[in-house]
Amino acid sequence: METKFIFVTGGVVSSLGKGIISASVANLLKARGYRVTIQKFDPYININPGTLNPYEHGECYVTIDGHEADLDLGHYERFTNVTTTRANNVTTGRIYKHVIEKERRGDYLGKTVQVVPHITDEIKRRMKALGNTGNFDFVITEIGGTVGDIESLPYIESVRQLRWELGHNCVCIHLAYVPYVAAAKELKTKPTQHSVKKLQEMGIQPDVLVLRTEKDIPADVRRKIALFCNVAPDAVVQSIDVPSIYEVPVKMQEQHLDEIIMRLTGVEVKGEPDMAPWMQFLNKMTSAEKDVKIGIVGKYVELPDAYISIKESLFQAATYNDRKLKVTYIQSEKLNESNVADKLKDMDGVIVAPGAGQRGVEGKNIALKWCRENDVPTLGICLGMQCMAVEFARNVLGIADANSTEIDPTTANKVIDLMDEQKSVTTMGGTTRLGSFDCVLRPNSKVAKIYGSQTIKERHRHRFEFNNEYLEKFEQNGMQCVGINPESKLVEVIEMPEKRWYIGVQFHPEYSSTVLSPNPLIVDFVKAAIAYGEEK
Ligand code: GLN
Repeated sequence: METKFIFVTGGVVSSLGKGIISASVANLLKARGYRVTIQKFDPYININPGTLNPYEHGECYVTIDGHEADLDLGHYERFTNVTTTRANNVTTGRIYKHVIEKERRGDYLGKTVQVVPHITDEIKRRMKALGNTGNFDFVITEIGGTVGDIESLPYIESVRQLRWELGHNCVCIHLAYVPYVAAAKELKTKPTQHSVKKLQEMGIQPDVLVLRTEKDIPADVRRKIALFCNVAPDAVVQSIDVPSIYEVPVKMQEQHLDEIIMRLTGVEVKGEPDMAPWMQFLNKMTSAEKDVKIGIVGKYVELPDAYISIKESLFQAATYNDRKLKVTYIQSEKLNESNVADKLKDMDGVIVAPGAGQRGVEGKNIALKWCRENDVPTLGICLGMQCMAVEFARNVLGIADANSTEIDPTTANKVIDLMDEQKSVTTMGGTTRLGSFDCVLRPNSKVAKIYGSQTIKERHRHRFEFNNEYLEKFEQNGMQCVGINPESKLVEVIEMPEKRWYIGVQFHPEYSSTVLSPNPLIVDFVKAAIAYGEEK
């Protein structure tokens, strides 16, 4: 079958959940047996979100090939179980960088280089690239930002041009918002009409409208929107607020969004998507009654999107363990010796979060000391693992000035340090170890049992490493270094076997956790937390 291209735009307001809708469409098409991928085009100038403050843009997700990506790629993977790569996330910065480099090489042969056609050609090339691999039946492209923004114009123009090129192999889905005005007791369609008009002005007639709403939109209101927006009435779909994002694919299926797209692209509609495994997950989710309480200790807790993959992986793990997840975000900056017990005592398990820089690190160390001494199930992720090592060196090995050189470059006891080859690199992100790496687990270690394998692959995003000079001392005193990178010999996993569950990982297990394939380490951590909670 010819590759079909689905474009998803958004209007009226931001944060409508284009990522979730794109992921839900992909989910349904995948459940019909099609090969699907989703890509996101972000209109900002940063080359990637790696340098963005999490307060500004939420979590930075990492793909297997080491691309620092928009957090929506995390949703794509969680909903589809299909991994993404750097080709799935393009920013304006990357487009311009490529075009400018070409210009410097003289590749434009003296031509004036312009937004149209040179930037738009480069956008179109990338929009089609995954489709051209022959690996996908459907390529879904989410356009970041809101229609009408100055910065998304070249993307919208590219989609307009591609519609002509791709003909019936192209579908445009537009997401809009239908607010409920309480004073008038009415759902208002005007913002949707305006945003569709805006799109039409730019030459794009959407084929499908997905209306975000807090209240059920009656059929007559949908018909009115269809009429004013030139869209077939059955292609006006509502996306009402639901308790869990994982219910959205089912809501879309009920309104036949997959069939609408298939008909529009000339794909014969046969049978139904096989949603059985997904429904099993949803059933577990809704039938869970008891809670599991997990504390996440970090410094970005005011914006939980900063830890979205951790939270979603915990949610999946809780669901498979027949529990409702209750997450408490604990600001590490505010933790001290006198309040730590109070803040953590109700938790069944504690995650010490990743991060960079000094702020809140001492609080993480205090939390870890308390968790270790009180034998609470604890998972340290990335910086959290590094803090685990520092805390252990200080309070068990008695090395009072043990530290990471990220926190104190002058310390005599560099338990966590930069790798030698990184010390000379100065470009932003230039030294970061990114992407999937092999890790060999010690036979009979807890972590090997959990993974059920001796070699695993997980994703990394860090510059600092456990310093192997301390390895022997750690092991002699109860902290085992049980996961090692086979090439570099870097320590990736530490665990204390005599504890209930005390494990630190240099990698990010949360990135690879999906609804249909939850990460085993997180599932086991939650299981241990449940057992501890019941024992307590
Ligand atoms: N800042 C630490 C490092 O660069 C940890 C990074 C992380 O937690 N993602 O090594």
